[in-house]
Amino acid sequence: AFVVFEGGDGAGKSTQAARLAEHLADAGRTVLRTREPGGTEIGEKLRGLILDHGHGTVDARTEALMFAASRAAHVEQVVLPALASGTVVVCDRYIDSSVAYQGVGRGLGVDDVLMINRWATRSLLPDLTVLLDVDAEAGRRRRTAGTGAEDRLESEPDDFHARNRRAFLDLAEADPGRYLVLDAGAGIDELAGRIADRVDALLGA
Ligand code: C5P
Repeated sequence: AFVVFEGGDGAGKSTQAARLAEHLADAGRTVLRTREPGGTEIGEKLRGLILDHGHGTVDARTEALMFAASRAAHVEQVVLPALASGTVVVCDRYIDSSVAYQGVGRGLGVDDVLMINRWATRSLLPDLTVLLDVDAEAGRRRRTAGTGAEDRLESEPDDFHARNRRAFLDLAEADPGRYLVLDAGAGIDELAGRIADRVDALLGA
């Protein structure tokens, strides 16, 4: 099964992905916790290029294609082989992040970004997407907690995050059976429990 975590910056995706992977491993399942570019050589290079240039200096289409290319490599080399061997794949971010950031955030349009990503991934969709819904203000507080600073990709104005949030929610509302939408402001243990229950049900545990 393929389980993806999505949500805005500061939603707690990596914490919950780790908790889910732990839960599944404890239950005796083979789990792969991954994120794009997932250690693929070409994907790492593309990520380096994207990060070096930052948002806004690479034009939006080029950036969207680089994310899609990195995703293609990750799906082909990491996700599909793992799924084929019966591993549960837990992935931090996937197509929805591109729809939110490149499609809506950068204004490329939802449909076009979906189209290039469907092609890039051979239309591989998650069995379940856990959307950790975080409002812009809470997200900003979480992103800056501890450091007082935001990293370069995350220092966007609140309305950017608000539009992103809406984009994620729209995707979930369009395909509700494939999504678990949770308020990221809930406690870590409560979230982890609800996610575990849903994934256990998915796996027929
Ligand atoms: O996964 P993480 O939260 O570390 O993402 C790093 C940054 O990459 C995010 O802040 C987001 O702005 C950006 N990103 C993006 N488009 C994607 C995936 C991530 O702009 N498709």
